[in-house]
Amino acid sequence: MRAADVIVVGGGVIGCAVAYAIARERLSVVLLEGEDVASGVSGVAAGMLAPVSEAASPGPLLRLGLASLALFPDLVAELRERSGIDPELERPGSLRVAASDGEARALRERDRALPSFDLEWLDVAAARQIEPSLAPGIRGALFCPHESHVRSPLLARALAVAATTLGAELRVGVPVRGLVRDGSRVCGVETAAGLVEGATVVLCTGLAAGQARAWLGEAGTLPIAPVRGQILSLAPRPPALRTIVRSGSTYLVPRRDGSLLVGATEERAVFDRRATAAGVAQLLGEAIRLVPGLDDAGFAGAWAGLRPATPDQLPLVGPYPGLDGLVLAAGHHRSGVLLAPLTAQLVTGLVLGKGLPEEAAPLRPERFAEVRA
Ligand SMILES: Cc1cc2nc3c(=O)[nH]c(=O)nc-3n(C[C@H](O)[C@H](O)[C@H](O)COP(=O)(O)OP(=O)(O)OC[C@H]3O[C@@H](n4cnc5c(N)ncnc54)[C@H](O)[C@@H]3O)c2cc1C
Repeated sequence: MRAADVIVVGGGVIGCAVAYAIARERLSVVLLEGEDVASGVSGVAAGMLAPVSEAASPGPLLRLGLASLALFPDLVAELRERSGIDPELERPGSLRVAASDGEARALRERDRALPSFDLEWLDVAAARQIEPSLAPGIRGALFCPHESHVRSPLLARALAVAATTLGAELRVGVPVRGLVRDGSRVCGVETAAGLVEGATVVLCTGLAAGQARAWLGEAGTLPIAPVRGQILSLAPRPPALRTIVRSGSTYLVPRRDGSLLVGATEERAVFDRRATAAGVAQLLGEAIRLVPGLDDAGFAGAWAGLRPATPDQLPLVGPYPGLDGLVLAAGHHRSGVLLAPLTAQLVTGLVLGKGLPEEAAPLRPERFAEVRA
């Protein structure tokens, strides 16, 4: 069998975006997924494309998040056409609600610190004009008009199917067990179903990428650790919200079908993918405090996923130092859906020999000693 130009390992939103972008360049791609497309944390994500609300301060995450957000409208239109799957991109904007006077002060400062993002501070009446079901006791809200959302599992599937329409080979239920090397050059991967040869291997295995060093026969792990996020879905009647509503660490995301996602817990170093009674109770309590009418909503289910987090919250995207032909694209923590199109663009540039652009330098894997060692 002829060697592929590129082997992508991992069929989450990152691997599927990478496979699609590379197939679009008319290179041959094999996408290997151990379970099923979006069976990892990409199947659980809320799908918010919210770089301004997510970033604690101006910096690379905000800059790169904005660049990736700008790629979505064209990408989604293309995917609908090529795959027949609609990832349901919605662009309603987000309201960051202040529940106390202290929070209101902090949000108004944020409004002043990020003047170029069309943020708008709304008093209680103006906020409740946009979302009449918000609790009357709120102290105002910061409106960010550009924030959007997609359905993450649909995005991953649309990317995978669109890649296959361009000739990519998608193989699910094929876990990769290790890399095949010729000296310091990677030339394929070993799977339960045999060897797959390829000139470049892109590791998009999310949390499991932490184990990449074992594949290289080296001790230790890469700096990617789990942060469990629990999330649930409500069926309010009638639909409760139009915009994304956030307060503290809680967010509410209205879906096209009228359901409402409520996320998410942040639990460090938990390897358990179950939603728990305590997590669900916390999320329900916060949601009902924000939007009291939700006490009557139907309960549609709860899920949990393990975010692949790095110590600086930025993913590892770039060549693996000292090993030709291995590229990392993992560790996207809270922003993998948002950063998927940009990550795919960066990896494609690497495969085409263009190197990593200066603005993506903060993502270089070798910023961590574990990768250099
Ligand atoms: C509750 C929650 C809400 C979230 N909300 C958002 C949000 O609103 N916006 C946002 O941008 N991000 C959000 N995230 C984060 C987002 O889910 C992740 O950053 C993103 O999904 C990571 O994608 P990935 O493809 O790297 O990982 P994954 O989706 O985990 O994909 C990795 C894939 O690799 C496969 N794999 C692993 N090992 C192997 C192997 N050896 N061989 C073959 N395949 C293998 C796995 O089966 C898996 O399918 C949220 C996360 C959680 C938990």
